[in-house]
Amino acid sequence: MSSASAVNSQSSSPGAQVVSELRTAFKSGKTRSLKWRLAQLDAMKRMLIDNQEHIIDAIAADLGKPRFEAFTTEVGFLLSEIEHTQKNLAKWMKPVRVKSAVVLQPASSKIYSDPLGVTLVIGAWNYPLQLSLGPAIGAIAAGNCVVVKPSEVSHYTSALIHGLLPQYLDSDCVRVVEGGIPETTDLLEQKWDYIFYTGNGTVGRIIMTAAAKNLTPVALELGGKSPTIVDESADLDVTARRIIWGKFTNAGQTCVAPDYVLVHERVHDELVAAFGKAITEFYGTDTKSSADYGRIINERHCKRLIGLLDGGNLAHGGEHDLSEKFIAPTVMTGVDGDSPIMAEEIFGPILPVLKVSSIHQAIDFVNERAKPLALYVFAGNKTRAQQVIHNTTSGGGSINHVWMHLAVPGLPFGGVGESGMGAYHGHHSFNLFSHKKSILDKPTFVDPNLVYPPYGDFKQKLIKRLL
Ligand code: NAD
Repeated sequence: MSSASAVNSQSSSPGAQVVSELRTAFKSGKTRSLKWRLAQLDAMKRMLIDNQEHIIDAIAADLGKPRFEAFTTEVGFLLSEIEHTQKNLAKWMKPVRVKSAVVLQPASSKIYSDPLGVTLVIGAWNYPLQLSLGPAIGAIAAGNCVVVKPSEVSHYTSALIHGLLPQYLDSDCVRVVEGGIPETTDLLEQKWDYIFYTGNGTVGRIIMTAAAKNLTPVALELGGKSPTIVDESADLDVTARRIIWGKFTNAGQTCVAPDYVLVHERVHDELVAAFGKAITEFYGTDTKSSADYGRIINERHCKRLIGLLDGGNLAHGGEHDLSEKFIAPTVMTGVDGDSPIMAEEIFGPILPVLKVSSIHQAIDFVNERAKPLALYVFAGNKTRAQQVIHNTTSGGGSINHVWMHLAVPGLPFGGVGESGMGAYHGHHSFNLFSHKKSILDKPTFVDPNLVYPPYGDFKQKLIKRLL
């Protein structure tokens, strides 16, 4: 190495160094072939299978996440995503033919899916494996180089990803950078071809501002308050079980967890009683000793949540233990729409239940607030369910269920407005990390002079007919 280049590499930041190395690898063209992409996906699959127990241990150390949940919502979720991508990738990569206008004939027009280049994935702590590697599957499938920056908050999982990925995947093109704000800030100072961020909206704005400097496109997977509307026609037992399951999985720390319930006043008491029954059925009477109930990520979040507990009447739960980062599954009634618990995303195991007198009132309540990431409606009456779907906006949602829409790879997952932009999963991830390049291919064996000057009246009349 010359002394000048030695000085350069010493003065460049770790972020600049990694981007420069990945850019060289991308330019070599190695990420473009189907073979390379499939090999990387296969390597990630092997990594997940070989190290399943270690991964589940790390997630449990970070979040006290039950092993069943860690498998289904993280490892298992990623394995299905990889397998679905492997099965379909060759088809997705094929250029898509579209019709060419009559005036252009003879010609063929196709959309090519081009990799974007060097991409950055910034993960969040609540599903620390899924949110770091899930978007990376899309980046690799689309033929990009990718840097994965897991959340430092879930540090056991971050360290494990950092240790494992280079053992299995091609380190020329796929890297893990660990760290918090300083390391992420350094990464954000670099020029990327795409940035995929999961987390809160405040940091989302920092990401978008940094990306704007280089006109880098972004996906922002944010959160917010996902409403759950329960109509009086709903099957209340099934409704209660599904809501309780969706809310208290991962101790309420799920971006698409039902944040609050708007229930028709005529069935309020019955639903609240059914919530209690479901909690006992799932977690027993001593929820603290349940092996199937998780913990809050850290003291800061635990204190924040404890502070919300006096926002209404405790219908179920309310017990907490800061030293163990435990908050019982809690259902709260008599909550005012303007109270602090209704101001911000709860992101923890507290479920406020508010009465409404009609489906219209519920719709108005939702529409007066920021566009949510998910919206759920429980109703036996199909017309009412459709009324909610057609008159509200959300990233996605379900009818008579909670966040199971995420498990359908054909459905794009993402937010709208305050809950984010850009959607992924399955084919949508491939498309998100691809540039759709339009190419017209025009043979030269004929070259009619219709479009060339001199134009004259005849050509003008003819072109008006043809267009
Ligand atoms: P977090 O604290 O893990 O932060 C997310 C990422 O942002 C981390 O990698 C962190 O290092 C980085 N970061 C933090 N501060 C930064 C800064 N100043 N500059 C640059 N980078 C910074 O996670 P969080 O934000 O607490 O996540 C919770 C939020 O994320 C909730 O609102 C939740 O709803 C949302 N979420 C959304 C989805 C989704 O798919 N839409 C999934 C999970 C979580």
